[in-house]
Amino acid sequence: MEEKTSRNFIEEIIDGDLESGRTQRVVTRFPPEPNGYLHLGHAKAISVDFGLAEKYGGSCNLRFDDTNPVKEDTEYIDAIKRDIEWLGYRWERECYGSDYFQYMYERAVDLIRNGLAYVDDLTPEQMREYRGTLTEPGRESPYRSRTPEENLELFERMKNGEFPDGSRVLRAKIDMASPNLNMRDPAIYRIVHAEHHRTGSDWVIYPMYDFAHPLEDAAEGITHSLCTMEFEDHRPLYDWVVEHAGVGQPPHQYEFARLNLSNTVMSKRYLKKLVDDGVVEGWDDPRMPTISGIRRRGYTPEAVRDFCERIGVAKAVSEVDIRLLEHCVRSDLNEHADRLMAVLDPVKLTITNYPDGQTEMMEAENLPGSGRTHEMPFSKHLYIEREDFREERPNKKYFRLYKGGEVRLKNAYIIKCEDIIKDADGRITEILCTYDPDSKSGMPGADRKVKGTLHWVDQEHAVPARVRIYDALFTENELGEKDLNPESKRELNGVMVEPEIRHLDPGARLQFMRQGYFVQDSVLSSPDSLVFNKVVGLKDSYKPPAA
Ligand code: ATP
Ligand code: MG
Repeated sequence: MEEKTSRNFIEEIIDGDLESGRTQRVVTRFPPEPNGYLHLGHAKAISVDFGLAEKYGGSCNLRFDDTNPVKEDTEYIDAIKRDIEWLGYRWERECYGSDYFQYMYERAVDLIRNGLAYVDDLTPEQMREYRGTLTEPGRESPYRSRTPEENLELFERMKNGEFPDGSRVLRAKIDMASPNLNMRDPAIYRIVHAEHHRTGSDWVIYPMYDFAHPLEDAAEGITHSLCTMEFEDHRPLYDWVVEHAGVGQPPHQYEFARLNLSNTVMSKRYLKKLVDDGVVEGWDDPRMPTISGIRRRGYTPEAVRDFCERIGVAKAVSEVDIRLLEHCVRSDLNEHADRLMAVLDPVKLTITNYPDGQTEMMEAENLPGSGRTHEMPFSKHLYIEREDFREERPNKKYFRLYKGGEVRLKNAYIIKCEDIIKDADGRITEILCTYDPDSKSGMPGADRKVKGTLHWVDQEHAVPARVRIYDALFTENELGEKDLNPESKRELNGVMVEPEIRHLDPGARLQFMRQGYFVQDSVLSSPDSLVFNKVVGLKDSYKPPAA
C-alpha cells in the first residue's frame, strides 16, 4: 500500500506531548473486558493502542478489565491473549483490574476522608429520579451530608459484607447540577456478592468502571489512554478521579471512533448470543467477525493490520465496507499463496487417443515469478469443472469447452471435445475428447493458441475433499437493519484436489486456480478427510467511497 504521510489526530497529540515534555515515553494499554472473544472492532483498538506504542518506541500493557465479577471467564482471557499475539503484538505487562482492588479501595477511603465521597442509601429507582435529566438539574440525596466518619464506617461495613446487593453505593461528591450527567455524583463502588474468577470471595464491593479505569491508568503510568467515542462524556469524570484520587503522573484520555462494518455486527454480547443459540458453530466459526473466526477462515494478520492502517483513526463514526477487508486479504494472498488446481464440481473427462495406462508429469508453477514448481500427473482420465462445459457454444464470447470446441488444459495439452455421455436423466457423466500430442505446454512447436484454458486434475491421483463457501452472516434490509443471512454457509462434497496438496503445510493458504483462495479448516480437516474454507474469491468488488 502507499506510504502514509499525514499523521492522525492522536499522533499529533503525542508529538505535542513529547515536544512539551509532558511525556518522555509513550505508554498505552489495551483494556478488554474478558466477557467474550475479540472482534474486528477490537483489532482496530489493538492496532491503535499497540501500534502507537510501537511507532513511538514506547510500550503497551494488556489489562483485563475484570472489575465485574459475574460475566467473566478465564477461557476469554486465554482467547484474548492468543488473538493479540496472532495479530503480531506483544504487551509489556499483563495486568488485571482486580490487581488493584486493595489500592482502589484505599483511594476511595481517601476520597471519603477528604469529604469527596459518601455512602448513599437511595434505592436505584430513587437515584435515577434524583439524577435529573439533560434539561433539569439533579437533586441532592438526603444522605449526601453524612460526615466522613459516618461514611468511613458505612463503607467499611459495605466491604465486610454486612449489606445486601444494591442496598447502598459509594458515590463521588461532585455536582448534582452539572450539565454532564456523569458528574452528578456518580456511583464509584457497588455491592456484589459474587465469586470473582481471580479474587474469589475476598471482595463483595467492586469499583465502577469510571473510578477503576483512571486509577489503573495512573498506577501503570499510562500516558495516553485511548478509548472509543462513547467515553467522551466520561472524560471530565476521568480527569476528576485522576485529580482527586490518582497518584503519580496524570494520564490523559483521548477518544476515537468505533469501527462499524457493513454486513456484520460487532458486540461481544450479541456475538455471544449467536454462539449460545447455536446459530454459529462457535466463537471461531469462519463467518464470525471475531479474530478467532477470521483466523480460522484463513485471513492473515498482515491483512488485518493493513486494513486497520487503511481505515485510519478519526473521531467521525462511519461504517466501513467489509469488502475493504476482503480486498486487503486478497492482495496479501495474491502475493503469497501458492497456486494449485482443484475441481470443485467435477465431471469426468476421457482423452480417447491418449495411451492407456500412461501417466506424464506436467510442470506447474507454485507462485508466479517465484521460480518454484511442482509436478502434476496427467493421464487419459481427468476431471474438469462441470461448469466449464456446455453442449453447445452459447455465444461468441464463450471460450470454455463445448462439443466440437478446443481448449488448453493448463500446463498440459490442447484437447477437443468429440462427444459426451449422459445418464438416463440427461445429466452429462463423461466428456470424450481427443488431444493434440504436439501441443504440450512449454514444448517447442506448442505455440498453437486457443482462447480458453481450463484447470483439471488427474482422476487416479486426485485427493477428495470438502469445501465450505461462506457468505456474509448478515444481510442488510431496506431499513438498513441487519438480518441473519440464512444462506451464509454452503458445503461442497466430492471436490477433487491435485495430489500436490499432500506435500503442503496443512495451514498453508492456497489459491485454487480460477476459484479463489482456500485454507484447510483447522478444526475439521484431517489428512484422511480434507476440509477447506474458502477465504475469499478472486474477483475484487471493492470500490473506495467517493471522497
Ligand atoms: P463490546 O461492546 O463488543 O463488548 P466493548 O467496548 O465493551 O465491546 P471492551 O472489551 O470493553 O469491549 O473493549 C476493549 C477496547 O476495545 C476498548 O478500548 C473499546 O473501546 C475497544 N473497542 C471495542 N469495540 C470497538 C470497535 N468496534 N471499534 C474500535 N474499538 C473498539
Ligand atoms: Mg464492554
